[in-house]
Amino acid sequence: MTQVSRVQIAPEGPVCSSLIQGYWRMGEWGMDPQSRLTFLKQHVELGITTVDHAHVYGSAQAPCESLFGEALKLDPAMRDNIEIISKCGIEVMPCGAPSHHVNHYSSSQSSIIHSVDTSLQRLGVEQLDVLLIHRPDILMNADDVAQAAELLKHQGKIKHLGVSNFTPSQFALLQSRCDTPLVTNQVEINPVNLAMTEDGTLEQLQQLAIRPMAWSCLAGGALFEQNSEQMQRLHKTLNEIKLEVGAESIEQVVFAWILKLPSRPLPIIGSGNIDRVRSAVAATALTLSNQQWYRIWVASKGHGVA
Ligand code: NAP
Repeated sequence: MTQVSRVQIAPEGPVCSSLIQGYWRMGEWGMDPQSRLTFLKQHVELGITTVDHAHVYGSAQAPCESLFGEALKLDPAMRDNIEIISKCGIEVMPCGAPSHHVNHYSSSQSSIIHSVDTSLQRLGVEQLDVLLIHRPDILMNADDVAQAAELLKHQGKIKHLGVSNFTPSQFALLQSRCDTPLVTNQVEINPVNLAMTEDGTLEQLQQLAIRPMAWSCLAGGALFEQNSEQMQRLHKTLNEIKLEVGAESIEQVVFAWILKLPSRPLPIIGSGNIDRVRSAVAATALTLSNQQWYRIWVASKGHGVA
C-alpha cells in the first residue's frame, strides 16, 4: 500500500503529510461521530495526518470544526497523531454577531483572536498547528495581523501562520511586517482554473521554498461534468493520459498533474469517501511527462502554446 510521505512545508515551517484531508464538506457526509472518527483513523493510517478546517466551514448549527471535535472527543489521543490547520478572517451572517450586516473579510486583531478561540473550543484542542488568513482582506492592516499572530504564538494557541488566496504582493506585504514566517499560501490549483499557473503565486512560493497547499484539485467536483467545451476537451485528454500512464481514473491524472508543479503543492482532498482518498494516495506514485502535463494545459485552454 502506498503511504503518504511527510514533508517540511517551509524552511521554518511544520512537517505535514504531503496530502492533506479537507473537511469543508464534512457536513454533507452524513456521518455520526463514530463514523467521523473511523474516517479520520482510516486516512491517518494511509499517512494523511494533516487536516484542513476553517472557522467558517459548515453551517451555523453544525460548524465542521464542532463535528470534528465531537469525533476527536471519542479518542482524544488521536490529537497527537494529526496536524490541524484552521483559518480565520471570513465573517458571515447569520452566525456572526447581531452587528453583522453583510458577509465580509476581517483581519483585525480582535477578529483573528476571537476566531482562533472559537476554533480551539469547537475542536476541543489547545493549539492549532497552522492558522491561515483565509482570504485577502482589502482593509488588512499587516501590523495588526502580525501582532495578533505574535500574541497567539506567545499564548501557545497557534504554532505557525500562513495565508490563503493571497496574491504575491499581499503575501510580501504581510511577511514584511511579520516576524513570524508565513509557512504556506493555500490556493486553488486544478486544470479547469489555470490562474495559479499564470499569476506569479507559485513562482513566488518556489523562490521562497514554501510549499503551496492546493484546494479544489478536482474543481470542487465540476471536473466530472461535461457541460462545456473546455470540460469535453479535458475529459478526452485526461482519459487518453489515464491509459498512457496506467492510472485508474481521471482524478488520479489530475493529482499527478498538480504534483508535477515545481512549487511542489500539497493537494487537499475534498472527498469524504475513503476509497476516493485511497485513490488520491495511489496517484502520488504516478509521473507525467512534461508533454503530458502540457497536453492537459492545452486541453484546458483550447489552444496551444505560442
Ligand atoms: P475537490 O476534490 O475539488 O472537490 C470535492 C468534491 O468532488 C466532493 O463533492 C466530492 O464528492 C466530489 N468528487 C470527488 N471525486 C469524485 C468523482 N470521482 N466523481 C464525482 N464527484 C467526485 O475539493 P474541494 O472539496 O472543493 O476542496 C478540498 C478542500 O480544500 C476542502 O475540504 C477545504 O479543506 C479546502 N478548500 C479551501 C479553500 C480556501 O479558500 N482556502 C477553498 C475551497 C476548499 P464525494 O465527497 O462524494 O467524493
